[in-house]
Amino acid sequence: MAKITRKAVPRKTAVPKKKAKPAAAKPRAAAKKSLKATKLWTPSEIHEAFSRFRKANPEPKGELEHLNPFTLLVAVVLSAQATDAGVNKATRELFEVADTPQKMLDLGEERLRDYIRTIGLYRTKAKNVIALSAKLLSEFGGEVPRTRAEIESLPGAGRKTANVVLNMAFGEHTMAVDTHVFRVGNRTGLAPGKTPLEVELGLEKAIPSEFMQHAHHWLILHGRYTCLARRPRCEVCLINDLCRWPEKTV
Ligand code: SF4
Repeated sequence: MAKITRKAVPRKTAVPKKKAKPAAAKPRAAAKKSLKATKLWTPSEIHEAFSRFRKANPEPKGELEHLNPFTLLVAVVLSAQATDAGVNKATRELFEVADTPQKMLDLGEERLRDYIRTIGLYRTKAKNVIALSAKLLSEFGGEVPRTRAEIESLPGAGRKTANVVLNMAFGEHTMAVDTHVFRVGNRTGLAPGKTPLEVELGLEKAIPSEFMQHAHHWLILHGRYTCLARRPRCEVCLINDLCRWPEKTV
């Protein structure tokens, strides 16, 4: 079957899929197909879309509860492969007793595990949170650093963690790509890409600076509550006229 190239492939020539795939793989296959077929948004369409997001929700908020940059960092590390609601449930009590690196170290790995045992992979995460707290104290004066490289050097923190912390704690124009942002970027034609990094770089390039402070949250919330993975709510989607997804339902 022909492999798709990234260049202006007219929609009609998009690969007609034939082979039966396992049911679980279908959404991914569909996304790939859409990716090839999707025509990119124009700058004015992008401006229009984000103007609508801004009008509908001028100050979007992340859903991970935190008290300061350190607790935000810990919450993001804990949120890998877990829901924000599940993390919040555990961290509400945890952050009452440990909202600084020193207090987290004083709490210790074993007691930390007790607070977060409802979160997936909690043993590894507890180890990482203790190690990153120690590193913050030994190398960064107990403060969360402000550069991507430094944040990514912390145990348990990757590119997405760095992007969330830089954006939410320090107001940087970064774009954290989770499963929701990845889906929306691909489906709509805003920033198609095969990997989260490709979508991240595409979004950063495409979205005007005036929207970048909140773009991450608008896209996450859009993916989480409107452009749902299995049954997108296209009929109430405020960008449904701009969306290029061939399978949209309006
Ligand atoms: S029209 Fe449908 S598929 Fe397109 S962005 Fe809106 S909800 Fe998602």
